[in-house]
Amino acid sequence: MAASSKIVPFRLPPLPTIREIIKLYKLRAEKQLSQNFLLDLRLTDKIVRQAGSLRDAHVCEVGPGPGGLTRSILNAGAADLLLVEKDNRFIPGLKLLSEAAPGKVRIVQGDILTYRMDRAFPNVLNKEWEDDPPDLHIIGNLPFNVSTPLLVNWLENISNRTGPFVYGRTRLTLTFQKEVAERLTASTSSRQRSRLSIMAQYLCTVKSCFTIPGRAFIPKPEVDVGVVHFTPLAQPQIQQPFKLVEKVVRNVFQFRRKHCHKGIEMLFPEAQRLELAGQMMCEADVDPTRRPTELKIADFKALADVYSRLCSEYQNLLTYDFREELRLKHLHRKTRQGVVEESNG
Ligand code: SAM
Repeated sequence: MAASSKIVPFRLPPLPTIREIIKLYKLRAEKQLSQNFLLDLRLTDKIVRQAGSLRDAHVCEVGPGPGGLTRSILNAGAADLLLVEKDNRFIPGLKLLSEAAPGKVRIVQGDILTYRMDRAFPNVLNKEWEDDPPDLHIIGNLPFNVSTPLLVNWLENISNRTGPFVYGRTRLTLTFQKEVAERLTASTSSRQRSRLSIMAQYLCTVKSCFTIPGRAFIPKPEVDVGVVHFTPLAQPQIQQPFKLVEKVVRNVFQFRRKHCHKGIEMLFPEAQRLELAGQMMCEADVDPTRRPTELKIADFKALADVYSRLCSEYQNLLTYDFREELRLKHLHRKTRQGVVEESNG
């Protein structure tokens, strides 16, 4: 009889439940590490489906903890799963999973904020930036306390094509506090529009997938959680260095309820402030009376392009920080006051 050519999908063998794993290894959640576990495998399957097909894919899971999401990734057919977990108490439970999926799981005990992902996967995965994304995904039910700094690091990596993006436009499926997820996907004029909306959207297609109610986690966090999917854009909408874009966007949003000229002015030293800010808005064709939340990515692109040109014309402008100017002024005033008091008394 001819052998059937149908490929049987991989399923993990019967294992202790996540609840049993937590009991077995006494894995009390640590508040310090923002540990909130997902025990419902239907929910973890749903998160994993947002990443697209994982059949034979390479995946890095951030903070696997007791391994609920990890099981869903393996059941979705990932061929190579790298787990980066900071808390060593989870390693024995993860080893159990690794034995149940021989040759598929690599465990790293470490901090994802410093882990070198550019060396973690084989070069055969590499795709040109403009090609389709590589067969590599980052998935994580992120710890709340590192999710925003971690994402900002990865956005900078996208801009520079470094870290996990040396392989091409690696896709990310991540969880955030619902409020942060809303900011990431907020469109123009939305109340949630913020620095994070611009920074994420000029570099990626950002998709809000679904919300997980806080009660689905153990222990229950005080907030609901949003699942967000990111695909880096083949052509970033702003083509200036990340740090320059970040500076312009941060300044514009620092007075988010005021007219945008207020924040833009603070990009310039006091002596040239009004003149250069006026020139910047005029050349970028941005109306000074618009609110930061009303500006489109195209407006930020125009502002960043003009600011970049001004930085090459005016020495030290890029490193200028109005807070430092204020601090020095304050210090100078205090010293003068001291001298006057001394000579009077
Ligand atoms: N993935 C598990 C789940 O869904 O049930 C656990 C999620 S829990 C919100 C966050 C996990 O990230 C914890 O296991 C925690 O130990 C881990 N973690 C916290 N900070 C980390 C870091 N800097 N690097 C790697 N893992 C970290």
